[in-house]
Amino acid sequence: MSARDSLKELMTRLRPFLKAYLESKNIRPNKAGFYKCINPAHADKNPSSRLVPPDEVNLFCFGCLFNADLFRAASVLEGRPSSGPEFVTENVQYLAEQFNVPFTPIELTEDDLIRMQVRNLYGQAEQLLVAYNNPLHAKELYGWDLENVAKWGIGTVPSWKEFVDQLAQTTGYTKSFINANGIRENEFN
Ligand SMILES: [Zn+2]
Repeated sequence: MSARDSLKELMTRLRPFLKAYLESKNIRPNKAGFYKCINPAHADKNPSSRLVPPDEVNLFCFGCLFNADLFRAASVLEGRPSSGPEFVTENVQYLAEQFNVPFTPIELTEDDLIRMQVRNLYGQAEQLLVAYNNPLHAKELYGWDLENVAKWGIGTVPSWKEFVDQLAQTTGYTKSFINANGIRENEFN
């Protein structure tokens, strides 16, 4: 198995630990199942984020559209790296140790690391666009309650700046990385 596939497999095994990870940080849902948003840029007074059913591997905020998997949660809550070789050693492998998931140390080439980041960037961009533009689609894909989708204003199209800001926030990548990889203002105009 290539190093890339080993990393992908390890990340897939770890993602379901998101709920346990949040609990380990004393972050628990209210009775209705909503968490206070973990996005540091969102002062969330009434808990607005939820674990996305059915697999609950993402924590999505209906207020600011922040979307975090386990690794993003660890970078927001503990300052664990979002990119570079440290993403593998100090985020993914660190979490594997925390949850006693056995692994053999993974060494990716720089090229692998960048490709992985770009794939994640486009995956997150797609999810954001779906959340903005098409509540019905969001229901089909994620099983979200349409009433809540309407309540939180999903379906409005934000400004370009807001889109890139949110993408940077949700991935932890720099805006120059996002721009350099083809998500630029002129792509949308
Ligand atoms: Zn939020």
